[in-house]
Amino acid sequence: MCSRFSFARLSRCRLLWTALWRFKSEAETRNRRKRTHESSSMKVLIINSGSSSIKYQLYDMPQGSVLAKGIVQRIAESESEASQEAGDRRIVINERVPNYEQGLDIIGRMLTDPEKGAIAALTEIGACGHRVVYGGETIKGSVLIDDGIIKLIEEYSELAPLHNPPNLLGILAAKRMLGNIPQVGCFDTAFHQTLPEEAYLYSLPYELCQKMKIRRVGFHGTSHQYVTERAAELLKKDKHAVNLITCHLGNGCSMTAVRGGRSVDHTMGFTPLEGLVMGTRIGDLDPGIVLYLARRGYSISELDKMLFRQSGLLGISGTSNDVRDLEQRAAAGDARAKLALDVFCYRIRKYIGAYLAVLNGCDAIIFTAGIGEGSAMVRRRTLEKMEALGITLDIEKNNAIKGREGRIDADDSRIALFVIPTDEEIVMVRDTFALATGKTL
Ligand code: ADP
Repeated sequence: MCSRFSFARLSRCRLLWTALWRFKSEAETRNRRKRTHESSSMKVLIINSGSSSIKYQLYDMPQGSVLAKGIVQRIAESESEASQEAGDRRIVINERVPNYEQGLDIIGRMLTDPEKGAIAALTEIGACGHRVVYGGETIKGSVLIDDGIIKLIEEYSELAPLHNPPNLLGILAAKRMLGNIPQVGCFDTAFHQTLPEEAYLYSLPYELCQKMKIRRVGFHGTSHQYVTERAAELLKKDKHAVNLITCHLGNGCSMTAVRGGRSVDHTMGFTPLEGLVMGTRIGDLDPGIVLYLARRGYSISELDKMLFRQSGLLGISGTSNDVRDLEQRAAAGDARAKLALDVFCYRIRKYIGAYLAVLNGCDAIIFTAGIGEGSAMVRRRTLEKMEALGITLDIEKNNAIKGREGRIDADDSRIALFVIPTDEEIVMVRDTFALATGKTL
């Protein structure tokens, strides 16, 4: 009797104990998850150092909210300007900024400004992501920056002379300012590492290409990646299932053929000179012209300047590299301004045709960056009279969209047409956060 009683009590105790233990361990798991979430919340600084400016945004991750954004402009010129917005607080500093180190120093001061800043101390920043233009075929995604990566960015400077050197200066200045926190390189070339050989190979002697690593690498990858993912959301499709043509039309212009969410062809090449007509860059060119000019006595540096800085919209119009100016001039009767826009739009149209063939049709065509988001005229001139290819633009919808997201195809268009403002920073901050914390969002 006594032993039966003890046995029953013992089983009740055991049940109670099991329930308590389960409750305790579930609470612990909840707490651990909460602690992990809290410990991986992090302020992340994203830096884009250009040839004369540093743009930056400070994010609160993993929420992705922007705590501050700003720019230091005209670095190393006689007068510089720095400005920052943090919520409704705005700072403007006018003082000479002789180099990138000083530029970062001003950014540090603005971020920690006691009245109008966003953080109390720079030690609150847990990681820093940098835009880097050229990572060649070596870099296939964002990476933590170490000495090897710094050396690589330096080595590739010859191939992206306008971009890699300032990118590197920004990295070195941020390392000095922020100390030993994870620094991440987000490479413009990375998204295009999925190009198949038939799309990236030039028909130069094969061994030469192998030896000198000459191939199409592609650019603006972060922007093409962002609009690809956003278009998939808008189309309510898996991002690995969309077929798209993405048009990044800014100062530099490029287009990507996207199959199954991956870049399979791209207009820019071994350098960011190939493909579309750009503000001052040449785009596609018969290489024989370069040989002809070289034989006529043009030096390498003259040709370099001509192809990178004196061609494109500026070269044809003779007056401006800015589509806004050219639209006004063309409307006022400037024939060269009109011609520049004609050539510009015709080239995009030609590549749309080519990429429709590459992809065997597509779900959508996306326009992004300054011109793609801002110029209804460029979009119309590029897309009109393409009904036979399944593209029907709604002129009114198109005219109504400037600098914001929207759909511009007519109801009977087989292919969807979108304007999607690019957001390269959000791709960069997600990658930086993931590499710094080991957590993918
Ligand atoms: P970046 O490549 O430097 O990031 P952007 O994407 O900001 O350049 O694009 C800059 C270009 O966009 C300008 O040179 C100008 O030609 C064009 N642009 C900007 N706004 C408009 C607009 N509203 N209409 C037409 N073109 C515009």
